[in-house]
Amino acid sequence: MRSPARCGTVHVVIVAGVFLLGLIIGSFLNVCILRIPRAESVVLPASHCTACNSEIKPYDNIPVLSWLILGGRCRKCKARISALYPTVELVTGLLFVACYLVFGITAEGLKWAVFAALMVVLTVTDFRERILPDKVNFVGLGLGLLLSLFTRPIDGTALWLSSHLFAFPPPQPVISILDSLLGAIGASGLLWLVAEGYFRARGREGMGLGDVKMMAMAGAFLGLQRALLTILLGSLLGSFIGVAVIALWRKGRDFELPFGTFLGAGALLVVFFGSATLAWYRSFLTVR
Ligand SMILES: [Zn+2]
Repeated sequence: MRSPARCGTVHVVIVAGVFLLGLIIGSFLNVCILRIPRAESVVLPASHCTACNSEIKPYDNIPVLSWLILGGRCRKCKARISALYPTVELVTGLLFVACYLVFGITAEGLKWAVFAALMVVLTVTDFRERILPDKVNFVGLGLGLLLSLFTRPIDGTALWLSSHLFAFPPPQPVISILDSLLGAIGASGLLWLVAEGYFRARGREGMGLGDVKMMAMAGAFLGLQRALLTILLGSLLGSFIGVAVIALWRKGRDFELPFGTFLGAGALLVVFFGSATLAWYRSFLTVR
């Protein structure tokens, strides 16, 4: 029998390993955030300083640590390096640890870690450039549909529908990919209707198609209920923070808010707190 102390040590080692993996993936996400909007390769060439263009040596490219050691400046030209880079690495590391602690080393854990990485890229890219790249949205949509085949269905919409349509429920992977498709179509369809409605009412675009495609991707991972919860949460965050930003920084009323950033933050909250929130909501619907 293994002693509890030994299990404790193993657990700490796994958490440290998952955190380290998250830092390294976060470092790659920085490359994606910087290069995908410029349609550059995310693989080659090696990282360069954006100011003096000198190549960043591997020993100066250690996640978070290098930035701290170099005092947030390039070794060669001493140009400032944005604190966004170590922040992205740290946040990705912490999200990976959260995925491990909540879902374990399972297909679910892998699926949510992949989703978290995609959301970090979109959240930061939209914040920096007001762009939600198609490449990220479409690759993400494909991954969401694919990973649904290997994970348990959690949404319940496909199961509810099929129990009304068929005498025998279809096998689990079919239910799972149906949930994924319903989430993608339902969430993007709703946002498209809102965007179209706004355009017709105001005569100008209030929300880009990027947000619609982003929610198709998020819906494929989250399923219908959690995707709708994400839209609700993203809209609430956007309203509160948007009003605060416009009031504090005296931006005009036409100041463009990064809606994708709020949707991304909402989606990540839903990954970890969505089940509890939906259970709480359902408790009001049951007759007591
Ligand atoms: Zn430099």
